[in-house]
Amino acid sequence: WSKETIAVVTGGNRGIGFEISRQLADHGVTVVLTSRDASVGVESIKVLQEGGLDVDCHQLDILDSSSINEFAEWLKEKYGGLDILVNNAGVNSNTGSDISVENARKVMETNYYGTKRMIEAMMPLMKPSAAGARIVNVSSRLGRLNGKRNRIENEDMREKLSDVESLSEELIDETISTFLQQVEDGSWKSGGWPQTYTDYSVSKLAVNTYTRYMARKLSDKPDGQKIYINCYCPGWVKTALTGYAGSVTVEQGADTGVWIALVPDQAITGKFFAERKEINF
Ligand code: NDP
Repeated sequence: WSKETIAVVTGGNRGIGFEISRQLADHGVTVVLTSRDASVGVESIKVLQEGGLDVDCHQLDILDSSSINEFAEWLKEKYGGLDILVNNAGVNSNTGSDISVENARKVMETNYYGTKRMIEAMMPLMKPSAAGARIVNVSSRLGRLNGKRNRIENEDMREKLSDVESLSEELIDETISTFLQQVEDGSWKSGGWPQTYTDYSVSKLAVNTYTRYMARKLSDKPDGQKIYINCYCPGWVKTALTGYAGSVTVEQGADTGVWIALVPDQAITGKFFAERKEINF
């Protein structure tokens, strides 16, 4: 990895995204820190540049297709593309067992559809390389299919989402639509969904499943044009998202994401990690 390696981080202005940006830049990679508020992005990179790091910034709101398109144009023009994409931007507006329709939609739109939009927009810009381009999705153990706690209790759905060979984008999108429909008509509690942090957990389940689906879809790319895609859980991190109540620091929370983004020449794809170890979906 060198200055010529271009890494894009979404939601890079604070929390885990800011720290991922800092650690990637610390490894000698050129980081494009993105932020939905452009002026906040400028302030964020000043801090990193004062530490001698090579970072740039650009406005990016993953809910807004025109912002994504504008960013893609700028990135292509200025850097010719990218090598690493870290989909970090995310929200969690549900802290208890109650879900509002508005929050559930926002969480899905940001965490799942926003991540997907970014992958679709960045994929054509990913540079061919011997080491393979990398996509890292910041996800959560709360979105595990087979976790001991908080998993989907609807067995039919769990089985379908577990079968990597038959996964499709339609299946994942349909799952999200079914969930949102049940939130709208008030029937979600008997739908077999995770019982805590429900909308957030379902959004991360979708991110995880999409990661596996994309890894399969991308697997036939020829050598030299490989794109590896993985997801990871940062742990319970002291950031705004947890009300700074987490048990680990942002440095610890960023570590596995940076590690998997930079892991040397190993064709690791379609996996889920935490604390630098593979974990079950
Ligand atoms: P923060 O709330 O500190 O940071 C979230 C970041 O996402 C901010 O930069 C925010 O931007 C950005 N963001 C939100 N919506 C958008 C959008 N539409 N477009 C672009 N950027 C957006 O949270 P964390 O650092 O904790 O979270 C980072 C990631 O880690 C998330 O995906 C989260 O789900 C995940 N995660 C966090 C855990 C934790 O314990 N903290 C545990 C497991 C996963 P802005 O400043 O403009 O709001």
